[in-house]
Amino acid sequence: GGTRELLLSRIRDVADYPKPGVLFKDITPLLADPSAFTALTDELAALCATHGATKIVGLEARGFILAAPVAVRAGLGFVPVRKAGKLPGATLRQAYELEYGTAEIEVHAEDLDAGDRVMVIDDVLATGGTAEASLELVRRAGAEVAGVAVLMELGFLAGRARLEPALRGAPLEAL
Ligand code: IMP
Repeated sequence: GGTRELLLSRIRDVADYPKPGVLFKDITPLLADPSAFTALTDELAALCATHGATKIVGLEARGFILAAPVAVRAGLGFVPVRKAGKLPGATLRQAYELEYGTAEIEVHAEDLDAGDRVMVIDDVLATGGTAEASLELVRRAGAEVAGVAVLMELGFLAGRARLEPALRGAPLEAL
């Protein structure tokens, strides 16, 4: 529909960023356009309602920018999943594989509980490693997964296939 075209038109392709051979999807033009940013927020908030989410997890860093207004719009709490070492309280930590080496993400343990149904939000699903690790954190915290919602899925990286086992039947929504 019109929203999809609007959103697509506000995503900029940047060649050879952050390294040669990578075509980076830059969402800053979308964020700078209030119609597009509002449309995106509304779409994501509607998905949260559709899938019965009761809490929103945003993934550092661009996931924060999208997830926070969605949480407010949907009337749900926002929980940040951060790169390791940034959260001050007691955390759960999860390591995952990168192309070269590993990375670690964390969540405040007290922010998620049994009874929460969590929608994980990020801008881009690439290899799926970050989203996969975040689902691990959500479940280790005792919460349920309502789904994963992203603006863009880079299909050629097969992140959906990697994420599938961790979803355990929950939806992956890519706008
Ligand atoms: P993955 O773990 O390989 O799926 O990488 C996903 C993470 O990398 C997300 O948090 C994205 O924000 C970021 N990312 C990967 N590729 C891009 C891109 O082309 N544009 C913006 N962010 C990206």
